[in-house]
Amino acid sequence: MDIIDEDLITTDPVPFLSQNGVNVQVLRLDTIHPVISGNKWFKLKFHLQQAIEGKYKAVITYGGAFSNHIAATAAACAANDIPCIGIIRGEEPGSYSHTLINARKYGMQLHFISRTGYQHKTLPPAFEGYDYYIIPEGGYSETGASGAATIPYNKSAFDHILCAVGTGTMMAGLINSKAAHASVLGLSALKNHSLLESEVRALLANKDQPVLINHAYHFGGYAKQKPSLIQFMNELFSATGIPTDFVYTGKLFYGVYDLVQQNHFPAGSRLLVVHSGGLQGNLSLRKGTLIF
Ligand SMILES: *Cc1c(COP(=O)(O)O)cnc(C)c1O
Repeated sequence: MDIIDEDLITTDPVPFLSQNGVNVQVLRLDTIHPVISGNKWFKLKFHLQQAIEGKYKAVITYGGAFSNHIAATAAACAANDIPCIGIIRGEEPGSYSHTLINARKYGMQLHFISRTGYQHKTLPPAFEGYDYYIIPEGGYSETGASGAATIPYNKSAFDHILCAVGTGTMMAGLINSKAAHASVLGLSALKNHSLLESEVRALLANKDQPVLINHAYHFGGYAKQKPSLIQFMNELFSATGIPTDFVYTGKLFYGVYDLVQQNHFPAGSRLLVVHSGGLQGNLSLRKGTLIF
């Protein structure tokens, strides 16, 4: 299980984002591993532990062709010698995405199922009746949120914790583990996903906690991008040396920059931006798009 050294995680000041009297620091979860990067390690770790302790024959999980969760699960299972199977949404593509190539390289068996079969999460007949440990789609689960609650940072040093939101599992874990004085603000990577708040709340230990999600920085929707986003990601990298991915963290940092500019946070606020990794996803961009 000890494939990630959580002691390598640093918290770095970001002067480029620290304006209008607000202090912004970034939690570098992206640096811990090139593929099991960022929040995916935290969401997976207790699932892996249960799969190992329960002596399951293999791990099965679900995702799309560009899912960081699929790539991370493949790499984490390989590191623990656990056979794993990825059920991928949609027809088998003529040429595989980098995510799928990576997953296959790590030994994940890939099975493509139709969008309807996928919606019902039916297993291909070959797998029925086996003793598999199933990790829900995208890692959305209480177990995943418990893992995300172990994301390490100095709880007393920040007033606002900011994170990207996909399934909301990481955000739920961050709310469950935050200090009482602090608040967590999620920035959605999805367009108009109005169920997100209730999906996060379903994973909260205390259901009365507010779930604050900003839906303004999706740039057209999940895995969509615009030139203004790419330009910002390049500017951020030039100014800070911090690489971001175009699906989640580029939008997160853009949103933080913009909210700070608009005086959304009172002067004196101490912000922690969670860099949740996902950089392998940038391989699907045309070469030369990003300067890093
Ligand atoms: C998967 C992912 C997220 C979203 O995490 P959820 O727990 O599904 O909300 C955010 N950032 C990155 C880089 C990711 O890969």
